[in-house]
Order: sequence, then C-alpha cells, then structure tokens
Amino acid sequence: MSLALARKYRPTNFASVAVQSHVANTLKGAIARDRVAHGYLLCGPRGTGKTTLARVLAMALNCETLADARRAGTPNDGEPCGSCSSCERIWSGSASLDVIEIDAASNRGVDDARELRERAMYAPSADDRYKVYIVDEAHMLTREAWNALLKVLEEPPPRVVFVFATTDPQKIAQAASPVLSRLQRFDLKRISPSEIRERLAHVLTSEGVAFDDDALGMIARAADGGLRDALSLTDQVLSLGESSAVTADRVRTALGLVPEEEFIGLLDVIAERRAADVFGKVQALADGGVDFAQVLSGLADVLRATLALSLGGTPPEISDTLRVALDARRDRLTAPDVLRMLHALLEIEPQFRKSGQPQLLLEALLVRFALLDRTVELEEVLRGFDTGEDPPARRSARLEPRGASAYAMAPAAAKAVVSAPPSAPTEVPRSAPREVPRSVPGEAPRSAPSVAPTLEQIRAGWSGVAESIRAAGRGMLAESVRRVRPSALGANGLLTLLHDPGDDTFSTAVENGRDDVLATISRLIGPVRAIRLESEGVHDAAARPAGKRLTAQDVKTETLDRLAQKDPVLAAAVRALDLELLD
Ligand SMILES: [Zn+2]
Repeated sequence: MSLALARKYRPTNFASVAVQSHVANTLKGAIARDRVAHGYLLCGPRGTGKTTLARVLAMALNCETLADARRAGTPNDGEPCGSCSSCERIWSGSASLDVIEIDAASNRGVDDARELRERAMYAPSADDRYKVYIVDEAHMLTREAWNALLKVLEEPPPRVVFVFATTDPQKIAQAASPVLSRLQRFDLKRISPSEIRERLAHVLTSEGVAFDDDALGMIARAADGGLRDALSLTDQVLSLGESSAVTADRVRTALGLVPEEEFIGLLDVIAERRAADVFGKVQALADGGVDFAQVLSGLADVLRATLALSLGGTPPEISDTLRVALDARRDRLTAPDVLRMLHALLEIEPQFRKSGQPQLLLEALLVRFALLDRTVELEEVLRGFDTGEDPPARRSARLEPRGASAYAMAPAAAKAVVSAPPSAPTEVPRSAPREVPRSVPGEAPRSAPSVAPTLEQIRAGWSGVAESIRAAGRGMLAESVRRVRPSALGANGLLTLLHDPGDDTFSTAVENGRDDVLATISRLIGPVRAIRLESEGVHDAAARPAGKRLTAQDVKTETLDRLAQKDPVLAAAVRALDLELLD
C-alpha cells in the first residue's frame, strides 16, 4: 500500500462522500440543472469532508464528460466522471489553472485578498470552464480580506465560484456578516463512530487487510468524528511492524492507548472503596508513561458505558471485552452515583488540560470517587421533605441527599465528615423549635451527631468563615459569604443560607464556591454536610401554596434545569436516558 489511505480513498464523486448526502445531493442537483451559485460556505468539524466536497464540486464544474453532455443537451446527473483528464488533475491536486486552493490560515493579509480579487478577474482558461477558489480555514481571513472579497461577490465575474470551508462559521458571522448573505451555506454533519467504523471496514476489506471490530472501534473513537484522521490513524497502525492485520493490540500500541484492564482495575478500586489503592494504581500508570488526559477521557468512556449498562441500556461503542467486564460488575455502582462521578469528571476536565500536575488531579478525583457516599433513594429524600423537617422552598430547592455534594466535596470537607476533629463542639440543644430532630420513618440514623454544630454556632462564627476565605485570597467569594445569612440547619446537616431577593451574583458565587465554603465551615466550626441558597421570603410558609408538595417530577425538573445550566451535554444525555436523577 504505497498510497496513504486517506488519499487513495478520497471520493471522486458526490455519491461517495460519506455521510454528507444532504449537501452532496444539493450540489449535484445544482450542477445538473446548471444553477451553480457564485459562493458557497461549507461549515463543519474537522475531517467531515468540507474540502473533499469542494474538490468534487470543482471536478463536476470542469468535467469534460459533463461539458460534452451539456453541449449535446443530454440530461446529466451532475456527477463528475472522475476519469477525464480534468477530473483526474483536480482529484490528484496537481496544478490546475482553474482550481485554486487557498489556506486562509497562511494567507491572511489584505494583500493576499487583493491578489485573490485581481486573479478572480481573469477568466477561466477556456470558455466552458469554471474557475473555482477553495478557501480553507476561511474564519482565519481578516476583516479587510473579507471586504475585498465582498466586492468580488457583489459583482461576481462569470464562471467564477468561491467555496469557503470553515470549522468556525460564528467567527465569519462576526467579521463579515454581509458576505454571509451572499453565500449558500451548508452545515456538514459530524461523522459518528459507527459510520467511521463502517467506512474503515469497507476500506480495509478493499485493501485485503484483516481487522477486528474492537480495533476499528478504538480508531473511530480516537478520530473523534474525523474520517480523514481515522484513515491516517489506520495508516499509522499498518506502518507498525511486519504483520498487516489491524488488531486491538496493535491499535493500542500505535495510539498509545491505556489498556482497558487498567480502567476496570480503577473501577474496582472505586466500587470497593479502596481509596488507599488509588495511589499505587495511578503511579503504575505514570510509570507506564501514559498520557493522563487520555486516562481521564478513557475513564469517562468507561463510566458512561457503566451508566448505560446500569440503566439497562446498551453502552455505545465499547469493545466486547469491556462490555463483558462491565456487565459482570453492573450492580456494584448505581446510576446516580456513576452520573455524579461523570459530572465531577467533566468539571475538572478543563483544569486538567492546563494543570502542571495531572497525576495529582487524577488521584484526588479517584479518591473522591472511592469515598463518595452512595446515593439515598429519591423517596427517602422526599419523605424528609414531607415531614417539614426540611421545608421545600419550591423556587430555590437545592436537593441534597446525604453526600450529594460529595462530587464537589473538597478534600478538607471530606475529611471532616470521615473523621471529626476531637475539638469539635458537643451537641448543644437546638434553639429553634423547628430544628428539633424528628424521627423520620425511613430515614437512616444520623451519624456522629456529637460533632455537628448548631445554627447558633454557625451564625456566631459566620464572619470568621468569610474572613478565612478572604485570607485565602478569594475576595469575591468572601464578600458573597458575608452577604448571605445562615437561616436554618436541617437535622440532616443541610445548612440553608438566605440571600436578598433578586440577588443572583452573590448567591451564585456562594453556590459555585460551596466546596470551599463547606470546607471552611467544617474546619472552623464543625462539619456541615451541604448548603443550599434560598431567596429571602421564599422560605415563609405563606410563600408556598398550602398543600403544594414537592413531587418527584418537580425535583427532577429542577435538578435537571440546574444541571443543564452547568453542563448542557450531560443534561441532554440524562434527558435522553430519562433518569431519575437524585443529585
Ligand atoms: Zn470528468
């Protein structure tokens, strides 16, 4: 195989452009009816076929066979023949007078645009030919360059077609909205892993190369929606060593992937709460020279598959080996717990890429997972609401089942729950009658009540909490803490903080910084399990219609709304799974 696969299997007509038939058919129709526009904008992620479509369009516009058909007045289907000398020249990318490819990433200045404009004025090399400019990475063009191009597009020379390709149409809309109105825009679809796998299987079969399905799945996942990348990765695997089969092992070696057994091992550590084993496991990975970002994304894949399995679904795109291993472990972690882990993982992902200490972050995350309190049943939480022990403030309910904030639990807070400091105050009779603990049917016995602070103690120490946070250099959070008032402490350790009606800024800041707030309260005053923010006034019984109960559906909707603000992708996934979400 001398020719790289991506090149060898580059489509020669519209019909063979993978996945993007909605665009290919429209372009093909325009050619057949001789109604080609002067400017096109092809938008889509990397590797989805933008330049491929542009080249096929250029081939069709200049195809000698099609030109003959047009001259003879015979109907045609708009497909380039792929075999005339013009088609071959354009397909192979060799010098063609009439097809000019420009990489805007390296041709940015106004001078280039001027030159482009002047060149566009030259007629195509022959009467029946089209001049096609393919501008890749078009979002990189400057405003000045667009202005120059706008003049061309306002009075387009005959038989000149511009095709702009971009991964970032938004940027073009900002820099050159008048240009956009003169272009026909097409949005290309991301190519799904299964579509990539299919395509790879087709290519390898044509090449007579043996492969296993797991291997193709791994390549498809690594290529992340880019067909060209998937083919290049396949080339990489094939260039590795003398054997020419594409097997899972060889893919793993070529791509530097972490073996699946490692993820199963980590999952076992979490499920069996062996927090201390985290460090050895992670060190072993480090010694193996893995990329921790890859461990993180692999872990996310495994958790996602676990979630799907525990909901009775079919995990997408995982190897058979992993499927069997996860299936054997399906009852060890509940869906809500896995969901919380996924959420925590997605939260640290942005930091992870920037961090100079990814190993430390990964260890901390895994330890948190291993220490995570397991979920209480939704009904149990709702029973707590109905007793009035934990008044349901409809508008601002922050449902916090035991340990629900564990995903966000700072190490200090986690420690405070696990082992209470010996100096912690002993239980003092609570002042407010409504906070007298009640025995709630179905509620699990509270643990270590002797170390929990009272509301009075929290109120008394509140300015100290703000000061301590300020001293740690977090001025905004400190100010926000100062502006909310501890107003109630549930028997289950849920601290309610009141904020002024209409204040979003400070209450949101406290909410976002709740790990730190919880950790500081726990350190200075005593362990508090969770906090929730409530607008003043909402708390009154009068503010709530009598008899209105918080239903499971309300809880779910609110929680989803909150989650959706934080992470639209995850929320969409949850909606799709229709999960009874607890946290
Ligand atoms: Zn042709």
